[in-house]
Amino acid sequence: MSRKKWIMKSGIIASILLLGACTESDLEHEDETTQTELKQTEKKDTNQNTSTNENSDEKNKSTSEDNEEANNSNGTAEDEETHEIDQESLEVDVENPSSLAVLANKKYSLPEDYTPENLKTVDVPTVLPNPEIKQMRKVAAEALKNMFDAAEKEDIILYARSGYRSYDTQVQLFKNYAANHGEEAANKYSARPGESEHQTGLVMDVTSESVNLQITSDFGETKEGKWVKENAHNYGFIIRYPEGKSDITGYVYEPWHLRFLGKELANQVFDSDLTYEEYLIEKGVDIEIQ
Ligand SMILES: [Zn+2]
Repeated sequence: MSRKKWIMKSGIIASILLLGACTESDLEHEDETTQTELKQTEKKDTNQNTSTNENSDEKNKSTSEDNEEANNSNGTAEDEETHEIDQESLEVDVENPSSLAVLANKKYSLPEDYTPENLKTVDVPTVLPNPEIKQMRKVAAEALKNMFDAAEKEDIILYARSGYRSYDTQVQLFKNYAANHGEEAANKYSARPGESEHQTGLVMDVTSESVNLQITSDFGETKEGKWVKENAHNYGFIIRYPEGKSDITGYVYEPWHLRFLGKELANQVFDSDLTYEEYLIEKGVDIEIQ
């Protein structure tokens, strides 16, 4: 892979952002680190797959991502700075794990030793007990809080299900999936370590009581899912895996998987009506598609 770097001039902003792509795959719907949780996850996956099949072929051929958990927390301020696109200048590198624009997918793997700085436990309602997955990079965690608060004012109650997942957690998730479903299925439905966007600390899978706090494509049809689709970009998030785009993103429709890009970039991607990969390509970023 070639490294791409772009320099963004401040102020101007916005418009030109670049970034890296990330796709993810995470072990399919699993989540957690514990066995119990894993079992629950499998159920979810099954449900999801089933519904997916009903809804589209896309899902059949793509991986879905999402799983959950992680723990750490350090942090402090780097993310915030990066978040401000109108800074003097911002160098964006799709292969720089610390960049809000980092690309993490089957073509662009995150380093095994990469752990985001400034991980923070999110201050919003969560679903699972694993402390690791309740974390996000500070700037993303704060944006998530703002989004959840805004949603609540409109009687939209959201829950955070799975955020940061460490490389090691992904290793375990993949192994467990392979053990239960076979290597082939694991390759198809589970993200390999380093290939999950959740390792960036910039992702949160959200859900609602209307879908029993699960991660399912049905979420996209709920009032909560529709609110997220219409408003997430205003808080810096995009729905990373839109419906009908699995051939580009590599993942099935995941209305619950929100990737933080910062407000400016998220708005740009939203307005383009393109997937993140397509947006990057349109901006001249030389990235490889799955
Ligand atoms: Zn996810």
